[in-house]
Amino acid sequence: MQEIKGHIHSTESFGTVDGPGIRFVVFFQGCPMRCLYCHNPDTWPFNEGTLMTADEILDEFSKQKEFYRKGGITATGGEPMAQLDFLVDLFTKARARGIHTCLDSSGIVFDPKNKEKFRPLMEVTSLVMLDIKHIDDQEHYKLTKQHNTNILEYAKFISDCGVELWIRHVVVPGITDDPKWLHKLGEFIVQLKTLKALDVLPYHTMGKVKYEQLGLDYPLGDTEPLSQDKAIEARKIIIQGMKDKISELRSQS
Ligand code: SF4
Repeated sequence: MQEIKGHIHSTESFGTVDGPGIRFVVFFQGCPMRCLYCHNPDTWPFNEGTLMTADEILDEFSKQKEFYRKGGITATGGEPMAQLDFLVDLFTKARARGIHTCLDSSGIVFDPKNKEKFRPLMEVTSLVMLDIKHIDDQEHYKLTKQHNTNILEYAKFISDCGVELWIRHVVVPGITDDPKWLHKLGEFIVQLKTLKALDVLPYHTMGKVKYEQLGLDYPLGDTEPLSQDKAIEARKIIIQGMKDKISELRSQS
């Protein structure tokens, strides 16, 4: 049988921000979201990139496998779950070689009515890094041109499958820094049983240059980068939302 191939934008050795340890990072080509702060607009178009098999990718990994001993492989993008069959094949073969697998996904292609389709992926995924762009559906739509209902269902599904979960949230001035929504995000994520980490990242403008190279207008125009202090403040509000939700649940039981 012919081996399934994935559309791959690029690979990167020695990633340090895409999961635990040092990682081999695979950028999948194609994404249906249009996040205003996206750093990788070149990964948006589907059916482009280089066609690669799982073994071709894992052979690249193996060339420097001693560096990845405490890390592993991360699938990111683009949106890796948009190439679900290939992603399952890649992670299945990675796990067979004893490699830790991390999925960095927006969850946008998750279909709550057809969730069993995604269970085989969860069975070969060691960790999911889920970027919740905005907790409010309308604000999420303004930010990404997609609704978030299925993304929040995806978070619950990951948790129900018992897969370790790291939540990430990018704080953009005037877009995702409203304390009301940050608090609500905390109330939501505290209910995810497998939550292991919360990364709150300040918005920066490093992606701007790619838009210029691609001849695209940069959607956030002159929005200033967020300071580290403001990101720490935002994180505190999210944590407060988590604590308040726990108190509320305790008072009801
Ligand atoms: S989900 Fe990721 S790749 Fe897709 S538009 Fe948003 S930031 Fe860019």
